Amino acid sequence: MASPNQQPIAAAASLDSAVGFALPARHARGRLVRLGPVLEEILSAHAYPAPVAHVLGEALVLTALLGATLKEAGGQLTLQAQTESGIVDLLVADYKAGELRGYVRFDMARLAAGAAAHPSLEALFGKGYLAITFDQEVSNERYQGIVPLEGESLADAAEHFFSQSEQIPSLVRIAVDDSGRLAGGILLQHLPEGEEGRERLHTRLDHPEWDHVRILGETVRAGELTDPLLPLEDLLWRLFHDEEEVLLLSTTPLKSVCRCNEAHIRSVLARFPADERAEMADEEGMISVDCEFCSTVYRIPLAELDGQGG
Ligand SMILES: [Zn+2]
Repeated sequence: MASPNQQPIAAAASLDSAVGFALPARHARGRLVRLGPVLEEILSAHAYPAPVAHVLGEALVLTALLGATLKEAGGQLTLQAQTESGIVDLLVADYKAGELRGYVRFDMARLAAGAAAHPSLEALFGKGYLAITFDQEVSNERYQGIVPLEGESLADAAEHFFSQSEQIPSLVRIAVDDSGRLAGGILLQHLPEGEEGRERLHTRLDHPEWDHVRILGETVRAGELTDPLLPLEDLLWRLFHDEEEVLLLSTTPLKSVCRCNEAHIRSVLARFPADERAEMADEEGMISVDCEFCSTVYRIPLAELDGQGG
């Protein structure tokens, strides 16, 4: 047992990290994720009202969970929720090598007018779609799956994604605490034919060994997923200690990193016709572009862009 003075180390280790695991005898694998300071930092770039911050917290946990299913370490996973007429117009989150970022575009007036403290997925998104894109850098493979945003939560929509477009029975649970600054989640998947890449001819959604694992996974409580004092390895043990073998596959530290940069913004602006660029500039001759992810404002002198042609 850890002595009391070891607890702060354990607590620090259990925030902003992802733990990958496998239950070989049940042909199951999974990942646990918990976010603390990373979530705080991403939210601090915006002034989102509580329901919007909450759904972004869920989306970031889901993105970190799905990042585990990338085959290559340098691959990128992008989660995008888009709607036709929802209060939330667009939600984007992405993951690359442990780095997370995300933002939400929404209608403040409609949110203030109608939404409850904890609006349902439908109240926020209306009729919407969840697109999940896997980009593998080395093999240059790109795969996108799209499912309707249905169910109680983003976690439900993600389960539909795996069962419908991937044919992989999956359990996804996500929790965000009342402060909106601590969040966690679990992804559990059944891979009866072994590793991905093989044709799954007979995926049985009622497989008894999967039912067993799923039931164990379902016992996880929201408070356990978001408890900053409960190390993820301890939670893993708590859920699956009766299993023959629990393999700890990886521990990945998660970071809040935005990949925006001035050179990219300049190259985008340079592609606009000169007269359109002139309209974007203010009276000081500067074009301001802010990054939707991290709210960094880039101020580029129009004269420098005109010098580059276009
Ligand atoms: Zn940025």
